[in-house]
Amino acid sequence: MKIKKNDTVYVISGKEKGKTGKVLQVSKDKNRVLVQGVNFVKKHTRQTRQDKPGGILQKESPLHISNLMFQCPRCSKPSKLAAKFLDDGSKVRICNSCEEMV
Ligand SMILES: [Zn+2]
Repeated sequence: MKIKKNDTVYVISGKEKGKTGKVLQVSKDKNRVLVQGVNFVKKHTRQTRQDKPGGILQKESPLHISNLMFQCPRCSKPSKLAAKFLDDGSKVRICNSCEEMV
């Protein structure tokens, strides 16, 4: 699992196919990713307080990781990521398209 918060992802399948957005949240089980501006669902909210009227709220819903691909900030292409270890032992991510560190 290489997608992290604040990455940009590209949707490769499903009704949101072709959209891109910033990762807002990666869920704990690592299979679901919340992407900014993608996969809006309407949520009906009930009035819980006097000053907070109920109604329909548009909210992003998480997408399954298999529907997403990392979009490289360097070459702007949806890319696969490779892991690489630097000389000091730290692990970095490498874009498979442009071979830049991301
Ligand atoms: Zn790239």
